[in-house]
Parts: sequence; C-alpha cells; structure tokens
Amino acid sequence: MIPIRCYTCGRVIIHYYDEFQRRVRNGEDPGKVLDDLKIDRYCCRRTLLATVDTTKDIIKFSKHVYRW
Ligand SMILES: [Zn+2]
Repeated sequence: MIPIRCYTCGRVIIHYYDEFQRRVRNGEDPGKVLDDLKIDRYCCRRTLLATVDTTKDIIKFSKHVYRW
C-alpha cells in the first residue's frame, strides 16, 4: 500500500508518489527528485524511497474485489 502520510511526522506525501515513481523509473536520481519536490525531512524521504507498491501483486488473491 502507498502511504498517504509520512509514518513519522504525518506530512501528507501521497501527491508526490506518482511523480516520484515516474521520474525515478525514467532514470533520474531519487535524491535529486526528492530535492526537486522539496521533500527535505529525512523521515518523509525515507518513506517515499522505501515504499514498495504491492497492491497489484496482492489483489489477485482477494475474493472481495470485483473481477472484470
Ligand atoms: Zn516525515
């Protein structure tokens, strides 16, 4: 799951996640992307860096999700 807020300080960080992932996937340095997004607290940086989205891996095992 993608964290909506930083686990430590509570800052809302979800709106940075997509841009961060897209830019890192395109080869940019993660530290510079975080600097550009003005995420300067190390707790928030750690939360975005360490997030692994496993939703698509797990959802196929759920019986409660509508399957189309
Ligand atoms: Zn934080």
